[in-house]
Amino acid sequence: MRPFLFFALLAAAPSFAAVRAGVARVDITPSGPIWMSGYASRNHPSESVRQHLWARAVAIDTGSGGRLVIVGTDLIGLPFEVANEVAARARQKFGIERSHLLLNSSHTHTGPVVWPNLASMFALPPGEDQKLKAYAAHLTDDLVAVIGGALADLRPATIAFGFGQAGFAINRREPTANGVRIGLNPSGPVDHEVPVIRIASADGHLLAILFAYACHNTTLTGEFYQISGDYAGFAEAELESKNPGATAVYLQLCAGDQNPNPRSTPELAEQHGHELAAEVGRVLTTSMKPLAGRLRTAYAMTTLPFAPVERSTYEADLRNPKSSPAARQRAQKMLAAVDSGHPIRDTPYPVQAIRFGNALTLLALGGEVVVDYDLRAKREYPGEPLIVAAYSNAVMCYIPSERVLKEGGYEAVDNLIYYGQPGPFAPGVENTVFEAVHKVMKEVGQALPPAR
Ligand SMILES: [Zn+2]
Repeated sequence: MRPFLFFALLAAAPSFAAVRAGVARVDITPSGPIWMSGYASRNHPSESVRQHLWARAVAIDTGSGGRLVIVGTDLIGLPFEVANEVAARARQKFGIERSHLLLNSSHTHTGPVVWPNLASMFALPPGEDQKLKAYAAHLTDDLVAVIGGALADLRPATIAFGFGQAGFAINRREPTANGVRIGLNPSGPVDHEVPVIRIASADGHLLAILFAYACHNTTLTGEFYQISGDYAGFAEAELESKNPGATAVYLQLCAGDQNPNPRSTPELAEQHGHELAAEVGRVLTTSMKPLAGRLRTAYAMTTLPFAPVERSTYEADLRNPKSSPAARQRAQKMLAAVDSGHPIRDTPYPVQAIRFGNALTLLALGGEVVVDYDLRAKREYPGEPLIVAAYSNAVMCYIPSERVLKEGGYEAVDNLIYYGQPGPFAPGVENTVFEAVHKVMKEVGQALPPAR
């Protein structure tokens, strides 16, 4: 390198003082009774609000590589219809590229249906779908607004990260004589890590706490009709009340096959929330590593093929008097798609990588990803701390690993009925996802270590 160019580059290198961050939030609690998502057993709209739902956004500018916005929502998951519209408007209004925007959902099961996701889970009474469509339209506006709010709030900041542990997630794929069912599998894979990112103002005041965990946000079960953010919402609320002025943003990780244990009472939701908040609070008091340097991002769409399904399978679902309303609605949707000449054979799938200098990479996967993906990604990229988020950018169904797909059960088969997808994925889904992972990781400078 010529000396002049070398010194010119040095002069242009960002200093820590160039780091900026901004925070915003918007209340996304439905304005009245609304159909709640997550459990097919629900038979009427929400009854009350136990805890408000929020969209919280953090904008980060490390001084090099552009501005990043991370949005956490106390919702079950965003459909492509909402996420794509939000991203298009964020680009148009604020110049935020798709790879610089991360939309994550906490996967609470005591929030509204986010239309049209999981709509075929329910036989909705007349008028309920209109309320859900109106909520989704309003939500889209709110998410664009919260992104703009965080960007408008950018100010000098310091950012640091660390990791803790929480033990209440358990693998829920219980092997039985009749196959895998949703239960408890204490010997199944888990990842109990709790990543924490602390964002403080230049004078040391806490502005935001990003924290994450891999566990279904389902302490509260189908008989609960009060709106809440479940354990993640309680953890956010506790962190915010203990740190006045700070916004706590929860990111859901690869929780597809992870459940909180024990579960099914509001007290347990608060207890798990407290365990998580206390651990985050502890990590905040440790010496955390600074997060600075060039921001690199990459975003890729891949396609995940479903295994072929015969038309006669759906016709049989319609004829069978024992078929659930969800199975009937799925069959009708699939037959209509075939008849229109556009059968559903695959789903688009988003994969994103966000890397801060050489300090930390955040990999964000769409859908309800099982923990095998998180563990494999960490095995493949051992060099630098890695956070593997799921429920990111769009949720279209569960994403089973090859192992889970072969074993069967809810995460491999049954969920696709509720998501209105044709049926299980074709073999090879895990490697197709990882091809996209390798691509985005390479784009942010993370080469796959040579195979041993
Ligand atoms: Zn789920």
